[in-house]
Amino acid sequence: MPSSIQRKRVLSGMRSTGKLHLGNYVGALQNWVRMQDQFECFFFIADWHALTTDYADTSKVKENSLEVLLDFLAAGLDPERCTMFIQSHVPQHAELYLLFSMITPLGWLERVPTYKEQRENITEKDLGTYGFLGYPVLQAADILIYKGDFVPVGEDQVPHVELTREIARRFNMFYGKKTPVLPEPQPLLTPAAKLPGTDGRKMSKSYGNTIMLTDPEPVLRQKLKTMVTDPARIRRSDPGNPDVCPVGDLHKIFSSKETMAKVNEGCRSAGIGCIECKGWVADALVQVLQPMQDRRKKYEDNPQLAWDILEAGSAAAGKVADATMKDVRASMGMSLEYEPPGKSDSAK
Ligand code: SF4
Repeated sequence: MPSSIQRKRVLSGMRSTGKLHLGNYVGALQNWVRMQDQFECFFFIADWHALTTDYADTSKVKENSLEVLLDFLAAGLDPERCTMFIQSHVPQHAELYLLFSMITPLGWLERVPTYKEQRENITEKDLGTYGFLGYPVLQAADILIYKGDFVPVGEDQVPHVELTREIARRFNMFYGKKTPVLPEPQPLLTPAAKLPGTDGRKMSKSYGNTIMLTDPEPVLRQKLKTMVTDPARIRRSDPGNPDVCPVGDLHKIFSSKETMAKVNEGCRSAGIGCIECKGWVADALVQVLQPMQDRRKKYEDNPQLAWDILEAGSAAAGKVADATMKDVRASMGMSLEYEPPGKSDSAK
């Protein structure tokens, strides 16, 4: 394995929303597990980001963070090969966020596509807050405080990385004219597999259509039994099309070539029934989820072990964050060290 000095640095996080589902795994976690040896990875649990929408009731935030960590570990993230930490345990993120908030024009935030979208869609909460508008600034701080080279994202999140790059550029323009202080990270596109929930819409906790990484086999099989299929297959004798069936989408991600061939042939010729087909996808999912659940059990039985991993990771992340903050403060002429009057060396 190349040393961390040679490896590029990757930074990514997940909000502390509690137990994770298959969509979180396919959309991010699976990719993170693969990246552990290729990059120097920092993966964090974004508990402050959870507050941008769930500020009114914080009673579950800490518990949810631990659940996310258990799923990180279950999925195969290894504390020996990556740094896992919790955002609020590295308060330097907040300091950089504050400094960035001084230089970020309001218009940049108002035009972030997800800002408008969520303001319109999430009507049960008041999102007219400073924190919600500013969450991309916090994201920029999360990334730039580690001087990350890459940020793994889906296509829809590329504008967030672009905003981070703009903030870094603006910071460097003001305070890093001689030597840029903050590198501009690149998005690392995660191949987007279509992962439908049991109702055929995008898998999401808010739709109540999830398959959780922790679902025991009987629960998983029951959820799949009720999953929607190609509407053309009303009777057993009606042929269908796996390309328009959400169960077909799951097969494409999780089933072997042989099974996929049986699905294609059997569905299109009405040679198989949907119940049989769903049983095959359940078999494939059990193969993926069971090892995760076995790994998770060790930490469920002793959550302190998991918490220790978070604390060690947060301390390691804190050291990197500290070094960046020293550079940041110095570049702004605001270092914490004593300097004789008139000797302050700002980059200006
Ligand atoms: S046989 Fe399988 S792929 Fe075809 S409609 Fe039924 S569940 Fe979907």
